[in-house]
Amino acid sequence: MRPLVKEILALSPESQEVTVQGWVKTKRETKNLVFLDVNDGSCFAGIQCTFNRLETEADPALSGISTGASVKIWGRLVPSPASGQAVEIAAAGMEVLGGAPPESYPLQKKKHSFEFLREIAHLRARTNTFAAIARVRSRMAMAVHEFFQSRGFFYINTPIITASDAEGAGAMFQVSTLDTEALLKSGKAPDYTKDFFGKRAYLTVSGQLEAETYACAVGRVYTFGPTFRAENSNTVRHLAEFWMIEPEMAFARLEDNMDLAEDFLKFIFKTALHDCESDLKFFDERIEHGIRDVLISVAESRFSRISYTDAVRELEKNAGAFEFKPYWGCDLQSEHERFLTEKVAEGPVIVTDYPKDIKAFYMKLNDDGKTVGAMDVLVPRLGEIIGGSERENDLSRLEERMRSLNMESDHYEWYLDLRRYGTVPHAGFGLGFERLIQYITGMANIRDVIPYPRAVGQAEF
Ligand code: ATP
Ligand code: MN
Repeated sequence: MRPLVKEILALSPESQEVTVQGWVKTKRETKNLVFLDVNDGSCFAGIQCTFNRLETEADPALSGISTGASVKIWGRLVPSPASGQAVEIAAAGMEVLGGAPPESYPLQKKKHSFEFLREIAHLRARTNTFAAIARVRSRMAMAVHEFFQSRGFFYINTPIITASDAEGAGAMFQVSTLDTEALLKSGKAPDYTKDFFGKRAYLTVSGQLEAETYACAVGRVYTFGPTFRAENSNTVRHLAEFWMIEPEMAFARLEDNMDLAEDFLKFIFKTALHDCESDLKFFDERIEHGIRDVLISVAESRFSRISYTDAVRELEKNAGAFEFKPYWGCDLQSEHERFLTEKVAEGPVIVTDYPKDIKAFYMKLNDDGKTVGAMDVLVPRLGEIIGGSERENDLSRLEERMRSLNMESDHYEWYLDLRRYGTVPHAGFGLGFERLIQYITGMANIRDVIPYPRAVGQAEF
């Protein structure tokens, strides 16, 4: 296999012969020298290839080369006189694998808006920003597994197609093979018993309920898979298709859950700081100033903890600052969340014990009868990054809650069985992988941290 630019850059320049393959980022020329910056995406930096016009036979090819062309270049690795790079290639020859005509190649040197780049998502990974995001995303996915695996969690795969409308976590996409056009013409209501699964089915909004069944068997589990929500909102932090990480622990209470969430975020941020150094340097300098310091401080600070009731009291003191008036019982808006983390806690904060009426049916009812053992982790700049809870493990309380919400409990008999047989306190949380990447990179729009974003009106590629 070819050596990566990353590997070549780490070699010592003792007159080694090397061959590099990649894409030309920039080309600069002086009278006798031509400099090509060749990048293969393996790391942030490219390698400079210097051609001496008088000494190489590459000249005809060289003159036709422009940004985006793919090339194979061979020569000697030598110490670089230029600043910012230890080595460069004194090129002896070159082969052009594919040109990129400057009249039509959309990625010229000038800076493009992220909106424009979204329209050419198939090429945007060739920009510094999107290549860096791809590398960080990959490393962080690995870090997620490392974190949980080293703490005795098992990776489980929960279904993507589901018949249980999970938890009212969000609007669902229906999955059906019924012929909608024929149905429309016939004017008849759809008969779902004739549908593929014999009943209505959806794309999952969360793997939690199924994860609970495994936690109540093997102790600690986590999911890490695609999740779908027909969010009809056009926000910078919601996607219709995103990747969710959902740990679930048996014999664990809300306190353990908070500790896990805090340890998890710190581990992830430390790994990013340590292993994605040059990419983070770029995000810090070019995307969001100070993002590295934010990550360092989050990784080192103790997360504050505040009850929803106290949080609302803080918000009410500053009611004038908000578009939506805060009151006990309200669902916290993004502006409230940001105020709590940025102004009240001045750092990450875990809000606990929300009113039961604004939270999902499975959350554990507290002794006050009004609140549930829920926890949301809020971080500066973003607001909610994690949502979780202790689960109701008492059969009759859970049944009562489901009745009051008019849920059809016969769909959930399997879920209730966990409370019928060997019930245990258990807890877990959900974290959108893209929110995490957004946070680490400082990217403003969540659509830019997943290769091909799906959102209202957007499903290209
Ligand atoms: P929010 O209030 O931010 O819309 P939520 O309360 O609906 O989120 P949960 O059901 O608690 O979200 O889901 C757990 C986690 O999944 C969230 O904390 C967030 O990190 C992530 N998440 C939820 N919805 C989306 C989405 N549409 N796109 C990307 N990530 C999401
Ligand atoms: Mn939530």
